[in-house]
Amino acid sequence: MKIYYEKDAPIDAIKDETIAIIGYGSQGHAHAQNLRDSGLKVIVGQRPGSPNYDLAVKHGFEPVSAEEAAKAADIIMVLVPDHVQASVYENAIAPHLTKGKMLMFSHGFNIHFGQIQPPEDVDVTMVAPKGPGHLVRYEYERGAGVPSLVAIERDATGRALSRALGYATGIGASRAGVIETTFKEETETDLFGEQCVLCGGVSELIKAGFETLVEAGYQPEIAYFECCHELKLIVDLIYEGGLARMRYSISDTAEYGDYTRGKRIITEETKKEMKKILSEIQTGEFAKEWMMENKVNRPVFNALRRINKEHKIEEVGEKLRSMMSWLKKKD
Ligand code: NAD
Ligand code: MG
Ligand code: MG
Ligand code: MG
Ligand code: MG
Ligand code: MG
Repeated sequence: MKIYYEKDAPIDAIKDETIAIIGYGSQGHAHAQNLRDSGLKVIVGQRPGSPNYDLAVKHGFEPVSAEEAAKAADIIMVLVPDHVQASVYENAIAPHLTKGKMLMFSHGFNIHFGQIQPPEDVDVTMVAPKGPGHLVRYEYERGAGVPSLVAIERDATGRALSRALGYATGIGASRAGVIETTFKEETETDLFGEQCVLCGGVSELIKAGFETLVEAGYQPEIAYFECCHELKLIVDLIYEGGLARMRYSISDTAEYGDYTRGKRIITEETKKEMKKILSEIQTGEFAKEWMMENKVNRPVFNALRRINKEHKIEEVGEKLRSMMSWLKKKD
């Protein structure tokens, strides 16, 4: 594994370049502010009339259209949602992607699956923080950073890596460490992680546990605490010190149940299905399905979103969380 820190990633590599941040969302607002605070020249491209436009103004930027930003910049970081990147690229970025510029991403989907095909004479790189945007900003402000990935898809100038690393330092990532990867590896592992473990796997595990207890006649509020609320405490322990730390902290009864029952929940069959999902990612089958879904205005996605919102666990959870004074109220 190759890992870069601040001393390997001088910001000077891009100190004279103008950076366009296209999309002032979760990642965009953090990158733009961190880069500016690091002394770099930043232009924000964000559509007027959107809440994030007003946020950028509040943060002291003068947002322009994606096209204007792309035109004025030497480095163009694409931080609009993945499913609109190809059209924003075609309409606003491609016409201004002249020789020697650098096109950047925080996720490899559109490059890896060929939805965006930049010209040969520009650098194409990725700096992908391994954390949500608000953490990228928060860690930077307290003098730290979020570990990130760096990848070089095309090195047209001979300086692609040093430019990307300069950017990584600008957002504070190299304070924590920047690991080298490829667009292929980042894209495929990111999709696999969110589908099988972090989002798909965890959500279904929570729901199945909750449903099992409620169907057996236990109070939904108790089921919520056991199968959902307590997950954070467990994950915090794993985050800090691995599975071993979590097992040290739980009771021996819980630890024995963990070893003897866990494998009956995540079985060989589950792992076989994970391999199948991985292969759908690798062949591009998932990407094709998701792009088709977006082309026809998301009928499946919207239906599933609605059905999941209506699940009993959400109703119970909302009620319980409103009693937890320490939780910040958010829509
Ligand atoms: P987001 O949805 O939070 O923000 C996207 C921004 O783009 C919004 O401000 C939106 O108004 C703007 N936008 C939407 N459509 C647009 C259009 N057609 N033209 C111009 N602007 C438009 O996005 P995000 O979650 O920050 O994701 C950006 C990129 O970062 C993606 O490639 C994503 O995979 C990657 N990423 C995100 C995270 C994360 O934690 N959210 C982590 C790592 C990488
Ligand atoms: Mg979302
Ligand atoms: Mg991910
Ligand atoms: Mg992802
Ligand atoms: Mg317990
Ligand atoms: Mg113990």
